Amino acid sequence: MLLAALLAAFGINSPSALRLLYPRATAEVTALPAAPGYRAGQRVLVVSPHPDDESLCCAGSIQHALAAGAQVYIVWLTSGDGFELDAVLHEHTLRPRGWALERLGQDRIAEATRAAGVLGVPRDHLFFLGYPDGSLLRLLRANSATPTRSRYTGATRVPYRQALSPGAPYTAASLERDLGTVLDRVRPDVVLLPSTADFHPDHQATSLVTQRLLAARGEQGRERLWIVHGGLEWPVPKGLHEGFPLLIPPRGHRLPWTRVDLTPEEQDTKLRALRAHASQMAVMPRFLKAFVRSNELLTPPTAPQPGK
Ligand SMILES: [Zn+2]
Repeated sequence: MLLAALLAAFGINSPSALRLLYPRATAEVTALPAAPGYRAGQRVLVVSPHPDDESLCCAGSIQHALAAGAQVYIVWLTSGDGFELDAVLHEHTLRPRGWALERLGQDRIAEATRAAGVLGVPRDHLFFLGYPDGSLLRLLRANSATPTRSRYTGATRVPYRQALSPGAPYTAASLERDLGTVLDRVRPDVVLLPSTADFHPDHQATSLVTQRLLAARGEQGRERLWIVHGGLEWPVPKGLHEGFPLLIPPRGHRLPWTRVDLTPEEQDTKLRALRAHASQMAVMPRFLKAFVRSNELLTPPTAPQPGK
């Protein structure tokens, strides 16, 4: 820590100085095997709980897939309409109510569309499901015909006209039907989705429902998992440190990670995609920028595969 304090005091935070600060963690990432690449004609689906996760986890992977000639699709399960602090700043209201949070959801759909554009994913490859931010796990566990009410917008049905099924009730059956429709349309060879080790309940719910649907279709084995909320202040250090590795998240320390290496240009494009999420950049820029690193991390599923 003395070294950290010294380097910080002199404003030294170059990638090589940071490697001195985190020697073991850096060596762990360097020793990881490379993630499998993509092939022309492959169909890749990114399953994103909120607008911004697609870029945080996978902006580099998306660029690699497109460069290889694969088709990339993105589905967002929520529109990020439960972020009250964000609504306070972005919608200029001190006490955000349903309407302000719903407008925030609309804005975040637009931001996600712009971010996808920066990465080169066409508009007709984007699916917004519009389920309630902050309530996905509750909705799945309720597994009831009675719709779950968003504690933020107050909605019990998908309120967004751009959604795949506007007006669909906030039920587990409805969410599974919509996500199933996306899987039918995309027929993905590779699915990039959150790990259940991710700290955020919406991310855990996204992981569970996606893996359940893939298993029901006999389509396991194509998942590549990522973590955005990795515990213990991860990713360290916060802020923009292009060229420094994304270290292994504490919550996923035992997972069999693989490394996706990003060139400086790919890191710049990732930063531009994240900047498209202007509402998020306004409230937590140092967290978002901490994902613009020389690598991303993906892991295959570790649960035993039925029949194998
Ligand atoms: Zn998220």
